[in-house]
Amino acid sequence: MPQVDTHCPYCALQCGMSLDGARVTPRDFPVNAGGLCQKGWTSGSLLTGPKRLTTPMLRVNGALEPVSWDFALDFVARKLQAIRAEHGPDGVAIFGGGGLTNEKAYLLGKFARVALGTSQIDYNGRWCMSSAAAAGIKAFGADRGMPFPVTDLKSADVVLLAGANPAETMPPFTQHLRGTDLIVVDPRRTPTAELAGLHLAPAPGTDLALALGILHAVVEGGHLDQSYVDDRTSGFGEMWRIAASWWPERAERVTGVSAADMRLAAEKLAGARNAYVLTARGTEQHATGTATVGAWINLALSLGLPGRKGSGYGCLTGQGNGQGGREHGQKADQLPGYRKLDDPAAREYVAGVWGVDAAGLPGPGRSATELLEALGQENGPKALMVFGSNVVVSAPRSQRVQDRLASLDFLVVADFVLSETAALADVVLPVTQWAEEDGTLTNLEGRILLRRKALTPPPGVRSDLDVLTGLAHRLGQPENRFPADAETVFEELRIASKGGIADYSGVSYDRLRAGEALHWPVPAEDHPGTPRMFLDAFAHPDGRARFVPVEHTGPAELPDDEFPLQATTGRVLQHYQSGAQTRLIDELNEVVPEAFVEVHPDTAKRAGLEEGDRALVRSRRGETVARVRFTQSLKPDLVFLPFHFPGEQRANLFTNPALDPVSRMPEFKVCAVSLSTVDGA
Ligand code: SF4
Repeated sequence: MPQVDTHCPYCALQCGMSLDGARVTPRDFPVNAGGLCQKGWTSGSLLTGPKRLTTPMLRVNGALEPVSWDFALDFVARKLQAIRAEHGPDGVAIFGGGGLTNEKAYLLGKFARVALGTSQIDYNGRWCMSSAAAAGIKAFGADRGMPFPVTDLKSADVVLLAGANPAETMPPFTQHLRGTDLIVVDPRRTPTAELAGLHLAPAPGTDLALALGILHAVVEGGHLDQSYVDDRTSGFGEMWRIAASWWPERAERVTGVSAADMRLAAEKLAGARNAYVLTARGTEQHATGTATVGAWINLALSLGLPGRKGSGYGCLTGQGNGQGGREHGQKADQLPGYRKLDDPAAREYVAGVWGVDAAGLPGPGRSATELLEALGQENGPKALMVFGSNVVVSAPRSQRVQDRLASLDFLVVADFVLSETAALADVVLPVTQWAEEDGTLTNLEGRILLRRKALTPPPGVRSDLDVLTGLAHRLGQPENRFPADAETVFEELRIASKGGIADYSGVSYDRLRAGEALHWPVPAEDHPGTPRMFLDAFAHPDGRARFVPVEHTGPAELPDDEFPLQATTGRVLQHYQSGAQTRLIDELNEVVPEAFVEVHPDTAKRAGLEEGDRALVRSRRGETVARVRFTQSLKPDLVFLPFHFPGEQRANLFTNPALDPVSRMPEFKVCAVSLSTVDGA
């Protein structure tokens, strides 16, 4: 095939690249301007070679044996029907992923609700972006990670990055921050913090208090943008009733960040001609994640930043299609177009597009963590189908998740590599990869992108859309209700999204092929898209943004005598998510081949550990083995582990599954642990 312009398979920046066969070259696209990180450069490796799956497999006497596609799909359909007959529609559950294309996310939601009739569907984006999504909807009435193009950041004098480490997770992004005075909020001195003019390092789980302290400094310093607050927002008074008591000296006692630094941050932001507040997983992955993001949004609103050209608030989405993945219906509570599943008008409209009776659509189901917890239990699903997710590594309390999977009557996994989750399945379905199919994704700035087919998939491989089509037909659905062609699915998605918050109705493959920069909403074919949202009005019916009252409560679990340290988790440059793909790429795996624990040398030595030793990191829930890395810049009571590794190295063996009450996000970012030598030796 000729060289094809496409996008990286990994993170939400969706860097532009060209593929000549499996050979990657970077391309000049606004978000990356010709740059790629090491993951992008090596992303062609998995397209060839022996590490991918090419044959459906069925577990026979404990081992996975090759079978034909017809046999596999017939078998899966028969088992699903039998389980539904015995346990009802909710006896079968679906688990999706934030890397799936918009078309797959859309068809997966429709398949669950129409072909299976189950309410039990959710996806791994629940663990990624759900707190920012919930906070954005509360504050602005709509959730688009960045409601402005990434390139707008170049106009900023000051950018505050809270809980974001793009210098490591999406390096090409940092070119947009060049020449900007950066304020970085992170308990660790990350590569991004190294770029900062001001690094604020709060104790883990206290950045809500830090945001309150900076907001207080804004107000006490006379920097509140009163006319913006009066004209464009509501709720300041209610919010201030709590924030008024968070003077910086009080916030200092909670966070460990000096009051002087909070006042300096407030002055820098207030003194800037153009400024942005950006958040990411560090603010979100808490049992108070929605409130924490809300606190940073309150700060941005107090300075009059959101909805002003050249300034704003935004969230750095993580997964490749983290934005689109939460718009089209694979979420437990959602219908396409970012509609609510419990909204009668939304149900009626989408059911009409699908040609079914709205009364027959199930209601909202369990969120991701709760869904996995219920597997195989009384009243819980007895069968699970997983698409594009490796829950055995990525879920909180991952050993229990593994046990729950083992308790199922039936587990089906569609993937292109034998992930740790696929290795446990009764049936494994080998599916196409990013470069072997057409499909759209929506990047972190709400821009809809076409990833084009650049390679013919190996024989024996089918797309996830083909899988859903084949199963739907076998489950008795009419021939044309579940198309397998991506463009045909997109044409239906357009209609289903019409009138919703995320309105794609004016987007077409032809417009995307022509290279149009279409940021949603795009409500008509002659509409140019909306690169900057909220310039005239926010998405609440009265057009005003909302200050949301938030109070600091702290982490769900604090250190004590038995677990005296705090642990936080995150990513490294070379690996992506559960590592199922990047651990198979030699160039990446050679750099970071195993889990490590970053620890201050004094803390390590007190535990009898030297650099390079294998350490045991233990919490109330489980223990992880990781190689000791001395890090002088880390506070002595904090350790850091990456979450990309399997087996006994899973960080999620110890993380805290305590959930945010609104977003149902687990508290991945902080828990109490102890550190010791392996076997106490
Ligand atoms: Fe791919 Fe993200 Fe790296 Fe860009 S920054 S090359 S999208 S992984």
